[in-house]
Amino acid sequence: MSLLTVASVAPLTPRMTRVTFDGPGLDELETWPDQQLKLLFPRPGGSAHVSDSSDAGTWYQAYLAIPEPERPWMRSFTVRSLADGVLTVDFVLHGDTGPASRWAATAQAGDVIGRFGPSRDYARPLGTADLLVFAGDETALPAIASLLELLPGSQRRLAFVEVADPVEEQDVPGVRWVHRSAGEDLVSVVTAAGVPSSAWVWLGGEASAVRALRRHFVGLGVSKRDIEFSGYWRRALTQDDAPTADDLAEARERLAALSE
Ligand SMILES: Cc1cc2nc3c(=O)[nH]c(=O)nc-3n(C[C@H](O)[C@H](O)[C@H](O)COP(=O)(O)OP(=O)(O)OC[C@H]3O[C@@H](n4cnc5c(N)ncnc54)[C@H](O)[C@@H]3O)c2cc1C
Repeated sequence: MSLLTVASVAPLTPRMTRVTFDGPGLDELETWPDQQLKLLFPRPGGSAHVSDSSDAGTWYQAYLAIPEPERPWMRSFTVRSLADGVLTVDFVLHGDTGPASRWAATAQAGDVIGRFGPSRDYARPLGTADLLVFAGDETALPAIASLLELLPGSQRRLAFVEVADPVEEQDVPGVRWVHRSAGEDLVSVVTAAGVPSSAWVWLGGEASAVRALRRHFVGLGVSKRDIEFSGYWRRALTQDDAPTADDLAEARERLAALSE
């Protein structure tokens, strides 16, 4: 576990802010596609520090051993970029209902939070199919944008990103933007697109939408092995809330797909 210090904060859109961080160990980290990490947000008057262990199991035990009123909030995020010892993370500002969103809305240079990862254990390799399909909401935009940037120009791809309205669009070439303000939703738009069963599919975002899209692609005949999927957030539930029956089913499906 290491500390991160905010170097800069810049709004990207009304609902998305970009934060860059300095911190020990960042210039030694490897990079790979779709890098995920855990960020630790201190409680008021508390600290983001947990322990110095870099071993995931030991570190998590130390994290859980902190009494809950002092334990920093832990949330999952995506490395938008990591270069020259500077880590960039794009935060969705979904309101002050969650500690991560609340923190990002008021972040300032010099603020300190914690990080665990990114860890190679969570690396998700890209598919090798002729056509790669990416779909997600704004929480998955950092991942989708960084994945698209890595693809060779010759790689056929389709990318769908659901955002609140046109002002939320970012300069990510080739994205079909899905606007909630226009009554559109990701599941309807993606399921109406003609995707062959030979495609490789990447899904991230609100958990029930991800599940519906995965069912759709399995129904189309896409091999479960060729669908990388992850529910990034759950409506009306925080990341601290216990898994629902659907979450547990999703976890079982992910494990089953890995062993196929
Ligand atoms: C692997 C992974 C990578 C991720 N990468 C990113 C990233 O790069 N950038 C990013 O912004 N998010 C990312 N997320 C999503 C982020 O972790 C969640 O949105 C998380 O819930 C935010 O924490 P919070 O403290 O703001 O809200 P929580 O305390 O977890 O939730 C509080 C309330 O806010 C609601 N809520 C949470 N997220 C949203 C949302 N996006 N829109 C509307 N309501 C919401 C919940 O339903 C709940 O009611 C990622 C998630 C995963 C699993």
